[in-house]
Amino acid sequence: MGKPILGNPQKTIEILQKYQFTFQKKFGQNFLIDTHVLDKIICAARISKEDTILEIGPGIGTMTQYLAEASRQVVAVEIDKNLIPILSDTLSGYDNVKIINEDVLKLDIAGLVREENGGRSVKVVANLPYYITTPIIMGIFENHVPVESITVMVQKEVADRMQTGPGNKDYGALSLAVQYYAIPYIVANVPPNCFMPRPKVGSAVIRLTRHDRPPVEVADEKLMFDIIRASFNQRRKTLVNGLYNSDMLNLPKEVIGEAVERLGKGAGVRGEALTLEEFARLSNDIATRRQGSKRKDD
Ligand code: SAM
Repeated sequence: MGKPILGNPQKTIEILQKYQFTFQKKFGQNFLIDTHVLDKIICAARISKEDTILEIGPGIGTMTQYLAEASRQVVAVEIDKNLIPILSDTLSGYDNVKIINEDVLKLDIAGLVREENGGRSVKVVANLPYYITTPIIMGIFENHVPVESITVMVQKEVADRMQTGPGNKDYGALSLAVQYYAIPYIVANVPPNCFMPRPKVGSAVIRLTRHDRPPVEVADEKLMFDIIRASFNQRRKTLVNGLYNSDMLNLPKEVIGEAVERLGKGAGVRGEALTLEEFARLSNDIATRRQGSKRKDD
């Protein structure tokens, strides 16, 4: 194994020209060309020689080289078949990297982790294509894929949404879902000039460290997340109206009204003012009361 050779603009251009590679916008291809940022990601992911890393979208293999140096093994999933010969070239010096040419959204990730790491937890590290950020992160958590942490480059605005709390304009269903499963920590903000081609917006590296157990006890997870989604779907409405108008929930108004009242935040409270703990309390309360009290008009 050698030291990583990728990660600067000249080398990246050289590889792209050698293979006459053309960027595919639909795959969110913005390759990292800054070694400081790469070092920061590797450091933030707290990788050891025992670790198996799942990388999503290795591109031309820039970060993959750094990951291969630091870990026991890397399993990298890349959708673009035009990148596969490039990866065989740039990663030829590493015998601990496996490339899978698949769409990660169609992959059984839990099955892959079982196969590659005997079901033991992996660390996910990626410079994520923006269009799959939310589905991939939520898919990993909701399907209980064994992961210790997820350290990813995402749009700055999405990183802010994951880390923020009530009273902030970015607070929403994604913040609550992420914080139910993990502790988010924004490691660094990354400007567009660290990528080729440059994205239109700023990016950030965020680490999500999975909780051993969720920080709140929830009787019915699906119900809580339906309540959360319903509250933020109609941000401008009061919580009571937002929940009542939701087809997902189908609850009588008095059940909603009484449960909201018991929160002690006033009848006109909006969903955006509630903490995760309050959403858990609300959903546990509704779960015990909704038995046998479905709406009569349905
Ligand atoms: N890791 C490289 C880097 O940092 O330079 C490339 C990052 S680039 C933002 C995103 C990568 O994800 C691209 O290589 C793209 O082809 C790949 N990709 C996009 N959609 C994907 C999908 N659904 N499954 C797997 N890989 C995908």
